[in-house]
Amino acid sequence: MGQAKTILMLAGDGIGPEAMRQVRRVMDWLEQRRGLSFAVTEGLVGGIAIDREGTPLSDATLEAAKSADAVLLGAVGGPQWDNVDFAIRPEAGLLRLRKELGLFANLRPAMVLDALIDASTLKPEIVRSLNIMIVRELTGGVYFGEPRGITDLGDGEKRGVNTQVYTSSEIRRVARVAFELARKRQNRLCSVEKANVMESGRLWRAEVTSLHQADFADVALSHMYADNCAMQLVRNPRQFDVIVTDNLFGDMLSDEAAMLTGSLGMLPSASLGATRPDGSRPAMYEPVHGSAPDIAGQDKANPIATLFSFTMMLRYSFDLGDEAERIEKAAVRVLDGGRRTADIMAPGLTEVSTTGMGDAILGELDASLA
Ligand code: NAD
Repeated sequence: MGQAKTILMLAGDGIGPEAMRQVRRVMDWLEQRRGLSFAVTEGLVGGIAIDREGTPLSDATLEAAKSADAVLLGAVGGPQWDNVDFAIRPEAGLLRLRKELGLFANLRPAMVLDALIDASTLKPEIVRSLNIMIVRELTGGVYFGEPRGITDLGDGEKRGVNTQVYTSSEIRRVARVAFELARKRQNRLCSVEKANVMESGRLWRAEVTSLHQADFADVALSHMYADNCAMQLVRNPRQFDVIVTDNLFGDMLSDEAAMLTGSLGMLPSASLGATRPDGSRPAMYEPVHGSAPDIAGQDKANPIATLFSFTMMLRYSFDLGDEAERIEKAAVRVLDGGRRTADIMAPGLTEVSTTGMGDAILGELDASLA
């Protein structure tokens, strides 16, 4: 392979470092057995960065993130930092990364593997073979809109204000990501808003429709109100391929979709920025779960969410979909063979540690070359 891909690894807090160690082993395997080359640097983010550098994300780490081809993040936070100043809380490091890298498209896949079908609270026939992708707008909308704030109206009365606001270009750039993803999947996109009651939703629908007509007429596009989408996700989730929606609705619908799978330790995510003139784009990959302080340091965490975040990196930043698939298949074979970390354990199967799961996946990777 040509030039080494540069990866900034930010393991963070809690189970972040132990999950990340297993990913590092898989990266080493790819280098040794598949001839790939990664230039990995490590940095601090979250609570550990507060302790050692006085801030949840130093300027130097931010610069390293900007110059890397992609960032892989573990998790941030934990009870020991619950009382730090709000401005430097661990999550502020994450938010700064997203903002400074301009990561406007958040990709959250929700897949149900046959081996884990009983982990879902829904009936197996509803979720079997589920494979949906939610694309959430991440840098605009009501979480950032102005005016915002709480004003005192006197007489004990106050008023809280947030503003839902989207521009045409903000809508079109995230919709473009979703259309392109749909093309690589089942070619179906459902755009979700509340055009019935919100002007920003009417604009959303109009912009997605016009982009569809201009550049993506081959993709099957549908529109759905967000409240209906929330219902459809539990009624018949397999009707969806790719869903694109705004920041607020995406926050909720992506968590709802995640729970269809029932296994937090399995769920990856990707956040992408604008394509640069050379075709590259800023990107950060991270598991959906947090730092799991209750099991941190015990070699119990499921490393697969972090590993699948890395396979998203291979696919979306490095165009190495074949290698991503090889790793995902290895993990699925381990699960099919009945080896499970504690979070996805079931009666009659074999419980393995974080390291044991790494060993098993590496074993399957070796077998894939035999
Ligand atoms: P959590 O996701 O850390 O944990 C929720 C439950 O799921 C825990 O019981 C945990 O043990 C379990 N769990 C999570 N990931 C697991 C894995 N990979 N393997 C096995 N079990 C797993 O959420 P929480 O407990 O609400 O938050 C803990 C800390 O993480 C808090 O400080 C929170 O702010 C932070 N957090 C960070 C992120 C992030 O870094 N993106 C996301 C969510 C929460």
